[in-house]
Parts: sequence; structure tokens; C-alpha cells
Amino acid sequence: MTLITTPQSKKTIDALWRLEKIILDSLNLSEVVQKICDSVLLELGYLELGYQIVVLTLINKPKQILERVAISKTQKAIDALSQSPVPFHDINIPLTYQDNILIKAIYEKEPQVTTSWADVLVPALTKEECERIQSLVGIEASLVYPVLSRTEAIGAIIFSMSKPIDKVTEDERDLIKSFSDVVGLAVQNASLYSALKAAKERELAKAEELLKLKDQFVFIATHELKNPVTAMKGYLSMFDEGTFGAIPPPMQDPIRQIAGANQQLVSLVNDLLEIARSEAKTITIMPQTVNLCELTDNAIKSVKPLADQKSLTLTHTCPPNPHMITADPNRLLEIINNLISNAIKYSKSGTITASHEVNAAPRSLGAVGRSPSEALAKGGDNLIITHISDQGIGIAPEHQAKIFTQFFRAEEEAAKGIPGTGLGLFIVKQLVEKMGGTIWFTSELGKGSTFSFSLPKA
Ligand code: ADP
Repeated sequence: MTLITTPQSKKTIDALWRLEKIILDSLNLSEVVQKICDSVLLELGYLELGYQIVVLTLINKPKQILERVAISKTQKAIDALSQSPVPFHDINIPLTYQDNILIKAIYEKEPQVTTSWADVLVPALTKEECERIQSLVGIEASLVYPVLSRTEAIGAIIFSMSKPIDKVTEDERDLIKSFSDVVGLAVQNASLYSALKAAKERELAKAEELLKLKDQFVFIATHELKNPVTAMKGYLSMFDEGTFGAIPPPMQDPIRQIAGANQQLVSLVNDLLEIARSEAKTITIMPQTVNLCELTDNAIKSVKPLADQKSLTLTHTCPPNPHMITADPNRLLEIINNLISNAIKYSKSGTITASHEVNAAPRSLGAVGRSPSEALAKGGDNLIITHISDQGIGIAPEHQAKIFTQFFRAEEEAAKGIPGTGLGLFIVKQLVEKMGGTIWFTSELGKGSTFSFSLPKA
């Protein structure tokens, strides 16, 4: 802000500080321009000194006009507007109209004084209209100051008063001059902020649109992949079942390799589809009463061949009274399948155990993973907890926080060469939570892991 050359009284400087604080406090352009028009009159008490109406005008460069942007909320302003044949925001002055002293103040970058409103309103209003309204409202003089942003004039501010111009004191002129300088800064700040905000919002909208397009692309591409991959799987199992006769020995291993790769592709396609559905929030859950032990047995049956291949023992302990829970059986099968498959994948030896309990703390392996306390606090004893424990490679503490994140795979030496996508646990977590449960785990590197999830009792 340029401080004025005339010595200012302490009172003026104090008043200026107060005004600056008020108008620089906000970054919202429409709020700022309104505060500019009101603060001198209402906050500083200039109304009592005969100042009645403050109007802020700003240049609209593309339209080459000077626009009215704000007017003080004072009685005389309301009276004047009620008499004006042109609505306030339509009172525009062409920048070429040099007879208007607002335009003159802008071009000369010098304050102007007038006793006639025609000088600030023509050609938007006729001279006669201006004189009529001015005498009705009782305005004697107007001071016009250019609003400067750095060295460029960006508008003008009008102070209309009900006293003659020779009654304006030096202090008042000082304050109005310095205030007009602050106005430039405040408008510039707020305009810059609004422009930045608008640009950020446009960027965000664009990023969201791109994300949506990416999701759609993944969904469509994966959907298109599903059919050929499933067809290959079908033919491969026909080979396996001997539909095409005995497979000649030299072809047996390559076919096994193709089947393995195909299985990986099928899992990947299914995982990607599940994620696309989760992002589009179209995962459907059809809850019903489910016998948890029975369903776990079914899941175990389907993955047992994988455990047998690695000589791992699979055990399942169930209480005499079956646990009945509320869940979508297909989704629950997916969850248990996934957790047991992981336990098999990430174990070299040992036993994999599935067990259930009512609202009890998870079996601890000495290391703390995701805490179950929240789940328990939320669900009380209305929850049944299922644990899938293994004696496998375990998860290093530094990886534990990321285990449920999309595409995360731990880089443990022991995990190298084990196929996977890092999508399974992300999907499992979504499914458990969709069914009103929570999932967590405890794990110790080299000793094993226990994944536990809770689901509501039926
Ligand atoms: P994927 O197994 O396809 O990589 P998941 O989302 O199922 O993806 O698992 C993410 C990562 O969590 C795995 O890559 C592995 O590092 C780790 N992990 C999951 N389950 C186990 C487990 N039972 N034992 C050790 N590590 C595991």
C-alpha cells in the first residue's frame, strides 16, 4: 500500500488499519466488494460525517465497460436505487466515454470531485434522471477515486455525501485516498484467489472425469477379456478330463503350464472386475442366514487340492452348535477362499487352521497387526469371528499397514516367485465391510499369519 504524502493523524492511521483488517480478511470477491462499500460508512462511522453512499465500479476488459459491482447498504443508497430506471448492475459506462468522471479518474489515475451525479452516471442514465434522483436523495457532492492494482487502474470508487465539498476535512481526504489504495489490493487478492479457485475446480473436475474414464476402460477391457479367458479354461479342463484322448507325454508339461497361466489370468480378470464394481459402487450383497461352518467346509474342499500339492495340512474346528450368521453366501465363499488360498500360497509347510469364535480376541502370534478392538466394540457379542491361521512366511512389520491396499505385494525374499496381483485382500476387505464386518490380522515374519474377520450373527 502507498502511504500518502500528507502527514496522517494517528486517528486516520488507526482507522485505516481497522479498514484494512476488515476488507483483507476475506478472499471471497463478492464479500470483499460489499465490505469495501460498507466499511467506511458503517464501521468507521463516516455516515455521521455526511458520507451517504459508496459505490465500487470495476473495469470489464472484454466488454470494454466500467461496471457497478457493489453499493453500500445505506438508506440513501436504497432510496436512490428505488428511483433508478436502470437496475444497479446494469449501470455500465463505456470506457471510451471520457465525459464521465469515473472514466477520467481511471485514465488520469487522479481523484475527481463533482457536485452533479450526471458526471458519474451519464450515459447509463440521462442527465435529467440523474438530477431528479440526486435532489430527491439529497446528495451534494461526490468524490471519485481511481482503484489501482499495482500501477494499473482497475476501477473507480465513488463517495457521495450530503454535505458540500468544502466541508471535507484533510483527515477525511487522507483516509479516503489511502482506503482507495487498499481497495485495489483487496480486489486484486480476491480476484486472483477466485481465478485460482476456479482453475483448481476445473482441474479437479477434469481429473475426476479422467478417473471415471479409466474405470470405464478397465471395466470394459476386463469384461471383454473374461469370455476368451474362460473359453480357454474350459478347453484346458477338457484336455485334463481326457475329452480329446490321452495327452502325449511331451505335451503334458506345456499344457500344465498353459493351465497355470490361464488360472492366473482368470483370477486377475475376476479381481479387476470386482474392483471396477466396487469403484462403481455396484457390488451387490444378498444377505441371508448362513451356516458358517458348512460354508467354510465348502471353501476348504475347493482349495484342498492346492494344499495337497504342497503337503500342507488343512484343519477346521467347529463348535457342536453351528454358528448361524447373516451374510451373502457367495461373497463369504469368496472371502474364505481368498484367505485360505493366501495361507496356502504363502506357506512352505505346516498347518492351516480355520476356526470360529464368538466375540473373542484374535489368536496372537506375538506381533500386533490390525486391531480387532474396534470391530468388537461396534458389534459386541453379536459378532462371530473367523480366523484363518497359517505357519507360513509371515508379513514384515513395515508392510503390515499396506496389506489391504490395492496392488500391494510384500517384497519378502520368500514371497518372490509366488504369483499374485495384490488385489485379493483389498477386495476381501471391501466385501467384509459391505456385509457389516471388520477384517484384521496378526503376523510375524517367518512364523505365520492369522487373518480374522467378524460378521454379524443371524
Ligand atoms: P496377492 O496374494 O495376489 O499378492 P493379496 O491382496 O491377497 O494379493 O495379498 C497382498 C499381499 O499380502 C501379498 O502379496 C502378500 O505379500 C501378503 N499376504 C497376504 N496373505 C498372506 C499370508 N497369509 N501370509 C503372508 N503374506 C500374505
